[in-house]
Amino acid sequence: MTNDFYCDEALSGHTPVVKVMETDNVLAFHHTRPFYPVHIVVIPKRHIASLLTLEKEDNDLLLEMIEIVRQVAAQVVKEHGACRVLTNLGDYQDSKHLHWHVAAGDPLCRMMLVRPLWYRWFPCY
Ligand SMILES: [Zn+2]
Repeated sequence: MTNDFYCDEALSGHTPVVKVMETDNVLAFHHTRPFYPVHIVVIPKRHIASLLTLEKEDNDLLLEMIEIVRQVAAQVVKEHGACRVLTNLGDYQDSKHLHWHVAAGDPLCRMMLVRPLWYRWFPCY
């Protein structure tokens, strides 16, 4: 069991993803197990553990990433009227690779409740 879904699965191609937007250094794609009706994740292609581990040398990448977040969020707001932009830290961050959630709609809580037992070993990243 890995704690970096993005390097091990999404970026490696082991788990196919539906891309929304892509640059040389940043990838945006539809969450493979969405918690919201619209749920897109934006990640750096280079491994960065979290928002808290960003270094000064990452400033260009950070700017590129936020620009993609901005464009994806603008598109979601245009199509759905609203969205949230969120990055989890510490114990809230299941996959230890920096990622931004761009989400719209009510959380799919009921679906979370009826997820089978194995979901416990494949937590929300
Ligand atoms: Zn990674």
